[in-house]
Amino acid sequence: MNSICFRAIPSVDVCMEMLLSADGTLADVPRTCLRDAVSTYWDERRSDIRRGAISAPELLTLENNRAGLLRFVRKKLSPNFKRVLNATGVVVHTNLGRSVLSEDARKAVARAASGYCNLELDMGTGTRGSRYGLVEDMLCKLTGAEAAIVVNNNAAAVMLMLDTFCRAGEVVVSRGELVEIGGSFRMPDIMKKSGAVLREVGATNRTRLNDYREAINENTCALMRVHTSNFRIVGFHSSVDLSQLVTLAHDNGLLLIEDLGSGSLIPLHVQGLPDEPSVPSVVSAGVDLVSFSGDKVLGGPQAGIIVGRKELVAKLSSNQLTRALRCDKLCLSALEATLRQYFDPDKAMRNIPTLRCITMAPGELAGKARALARRVKAHASDACRVSIRDGVSRVGGGAFPQYDLPTKLVCLSSSTVDAMTVKMRFLKAETPLVGRIEDDTFCLDVRTLEREELPLVAHLVESVFSMTKEQG
Ligand SMILES: *Cc1c(COP(=O)(O)O)cnc(C)c1O
Repeated sequence: MNSICFRAIPSVDVCMEMLLSADGTLADVPRTCLRDAVSTYWDERRSDIRRGAISAPELLTLENNRAGLLRFVRKKLSPNFKRVLNATGVVVHTNLGRSVLSEDARKAVARAASGYCNLELDMGTGTRGSRYGLVEDMLCKLTGAEAAIVVNNNAAAVMLMLDTFCRAGEVVVSRGELVEIGGSFRMPDIMKKSGAVLREVGATNRTRLNDYREAINENTCALMRVHTSNFRIVGFHSSVDLSQLVTLAHDNGLLLIEDLGSGSLIPLHVQGLPDEPSVPSVVSAGVDLVSFSGDKVLGGPQAGIIVGRKELVAKLSSNQLTRALRCDKLCLSALEATLRQYFDPDKAMRNIPTLRCITMAPGELAGKARALARRVKAHASDACRVSIRDGVSRVGGGAFPQYDLPTKLVCLSSSTVDAMTVKMRFLKAETPLVGRIEDDTFCLDVRTLEREELPLVAHLVESVFSMTKEQG
């Protein structure tokens, strides 16, 4: 029986001919890719036959596979990089690419990508310049630091600081700050890669100034603070006051280095959020070098920004490792455009999507939720029940751990499909949507959905809830 089925499978050439006449745009696709997609489609049917899911030869004719083959091939040839709708309410979502760039930054990237640029050209002399010079001045003005350098990401920035100043020496850090930052990134491991020896002091929940003092010896190069980004020790907990640590470091001729993680340039006074240290506040407190990410609360491209004392930054830039960690023209152009907006903080709040999402007013959230619920009710089948609930969003990216941003959720439920199935269907949609399940209900947090995206979301809801079991 199986052999009859196998023999019923049409040849790849016949399938290609059908596809090319059915869809003119496929003519631009390299033939090897098209051929490969067709073969993969039939390989899947062959395994269907083997496991008994297909047993009738007529299911394998070209005619009966026309639509399926077209759908499969189009999907297979579509870009792997896809736009995704973020309905998780996590503003800085590492899996979803962290910050969305502002319009100014997007334009700057397009400009930098579309022609040659002055990445390393000194416009005054026509000789080789420094790529870091393009943003250094702005970073200094915005943070109050003497100098700045930008590398690939904040993990690279931490590594570079330690490699430059603490190689083969010791760096004192509080045990309570040795954090794991998601994925496989463990701060202590990154720090050890630099060759620095970590002297961990204090207990997880308690470190005193004296713990730092007692750890200092002739091998000590620096004291280091690491912002406890994605977790927070609640309850019985003490850490050392920053000004005392600055004094201790400098009295002993040591550097004080801080990995600020998310690092914001302006204070964010938002309902639900505590005051987190901003970069300028840490710089003015006397920390020698501060590093932070470009794509977390700052709202720019992936980058690791280091600001601090001039002679220290000069040493960083002459470290050979910097060459291996450098960022490219697209990153620097986006960063410049993002930073420029911070000179008018109100403008930054309005135009930088990450800041806008974090600080979104309750009225706007409620308005968006009502608008989305209305659209969904107008489109979705009767199988989908729609309700609006209060919920909680998160800043994400390790910033403001555990702090709740009050939000509105549009919740979708059905008596025929469970929440997990709904979630998976949204993930597999042509424009995938990521939401979350709360109390066995699939919920869309409107904080991270733009108004312009709502029609598309409603359209997705309609197709997800009108699918049959066989379709997913
Ligand atoms: C996020 C984070 C990092 C890593 O930053 P990347 O830009 O992702 O490399 C390092 N340290 C802290 C404290 C962080 O929050």
